[in-house]
Amino acid sequence: MAATTATPQTMRLLVEIDGAVHPLADCRWVRIEPNDCVTGSLVGNAVTSPQHAAERFTTSKRERAREERAGVRYQLVTPDRWATHAKPCLLGDCAHEWLA
Ligand SMILES: [Zn+2]
Repeated sequence: MAATTATPQTMRLLVEIDGAVHPLADCRWVRIEPNDCVTGSLVGNAVTSPQHAAERFTTSKRERAREERAGVRYQLVTPDRWATHAKPCLLGDCAHEWLA
């Protein structure tokens, strides 16, 4: 029985977001705070699920549970959505308000 040498990195994976198909590698996973502010981003093909994204950003299981209760979420977004929503946040140029 020969082991397969194919790796996911060699495949062109496509995802459908909001009814449109995009190459997964062009999309990004974003970490969205309860106030809708994006505080982190990963290339789309780095992880395979919101749960997996959470594990990449927050290694502590207890801390992840706390974040989830607080309303932090992880979402795969299109390049357009990333440019309009995530990029301003990551550059400190957004209008999201933070409660003390
Ligand atoms: Zn923001």
